[in-house]
Amino acid sequence: MNKRMICALLAVCLLLPLALAGCGKKKKSVKEDTPDPVIIKEAAGPKAPVEVQEALDEKIKELSMTPVQKYWDDPANYGELVPYDGIVEHIFFHPVIAYPELAFDGDYKEAGIDDWMVTVSEYNKILQSLYDNGYIMVDMNDVWTETTDDSGKAVMVRNTLMLPEGKKPIIISYDDVNYYAYMLENGFTYKLIIGDDGNLWSWGLDPQGNEVVSQDLDAITIMDKFVNEHPDFSLFGAKGCLCLTGYEGILGYRTHTDKENTSAEFEANRQKEIEAVKPIVERLKETGWYFGCHSWSHLNLANASYERVVADNERWQNEVASLVGATKLYFYPFGGRLDGNDVTQTGPCFKYMQEQGFRVFASVGIESYSKIKGDICAVICDRLHPDGTTLRWSRSRYLQFYDAADVFDYDVRPDFGYDFS
Ligand SMILES: [Zn+2]
Repeated sequence: MNKRMICALLAVCLLLPLALAGCGKKKKSVKEDTPDPVIIKEAAGPKAPVEVQEALDEKIKELSMTPVQKYWDDPANYGELVPYDGIVEHIFFHPVIAYPELAFDGDYKEAGIDDWMVTVSEYNKILQSLYDNGYIMVDMNDVWTETTDDSGKAVMVRNTLMLPEGKKPIIISYDDVNYYAYMLENGFTYKLIIGDDGNLWSWGLDPQGNEVVSQDLDAITIMDKFVNEHPDFSLFGAKGCLCLTGYEGILGYRTHTDKENTSAEFEANRQKEIEAVKPIVERLKETGWYFGCHSWSHLNLANASYERVVADNERWQNEVASLVGATKLYFYPFGGRLDGNDVTQTGPCFKYMQEQGFRVFASVGIESYSKIKGDICAVICDRLHPDGTTLRWSRSRYLQFYDAADVFDYDVRPDFGYDFS
């Protein structure tokens, strides 16, 4: 029985007594085939007895929850939580390759895609292996908190995480979830959409040009499915961080401005795209996803001027934060650290970004390094990167997560070699 049928049944069961008692004012909605939870709630009206209203609210909540949310709603499912103060691993992906035949077709993008991306098949295997190895996804916002020290100075502190016994925490972030134009012609999905079931699906074209709506071709929808099947892979429903630029819009919607094109037509389309992406953002947040900044223009911050850094951030705030909300999380494009070095110094650009509200700054590295800075209220950290490069050449470094020899997509990747010794 699907969710809507349950809703309809519930509406009849719960509202019939109310209607008989003269409380069910909007009886009309009971007759509807597919009343949504909001309509049921309205139908009960303000005069519903408290206990009936509470029972309704409880049922509505339950029905609108995903399987992973339902799992974490009942402590009996996961048992006692134990404190964890060890390393929080952090890995990141780019969008995943849905159609390898388009990605690996020998064009000028092939080598870059091979370096930085994994295929859907590799991604599925990696998720399964992370789960089998005892990892559990945590929300990056929960790992560090801003507080004040004894002298009243603002500082970041590392939180003790509370996890089910035996689980190891991992943050997963996703860079460039923008569905750039180059990706569309190279074997990636085109955008996220909301299906008739209220859940997220991807939309795109297969190599023959047919429209495809799927939950098996995009890193986000694949993860949604995976955690619904393995709720203990996602601590209280936490998913990944979506790190967005702004120069080609967000999430497959062209919400960006273009200084070269200020026509009314461009702006009208932009406003349409902004309206279209809002429910996508809302559904992502409802289902445990959260957002980070990856600069507006994919700017290399290691050698950018102060003026450039400020202008780029202002544009990101105007065009991206305005849609996804404020974030404390910054993900350096190209891994380029602010002012060229944020480990041993705190330069003017870093100070500016911190004043703008960013607190955790993530680069890319060979381990899940993190450091709470002493001179300013901020954390810097590195992430590992499952992709073609590390699959081919860094098997040993990733063995705690998965074995590249089992994951590597031999049939579809170009013949660029590998070392699985
Ligand atoms: Zn990037």
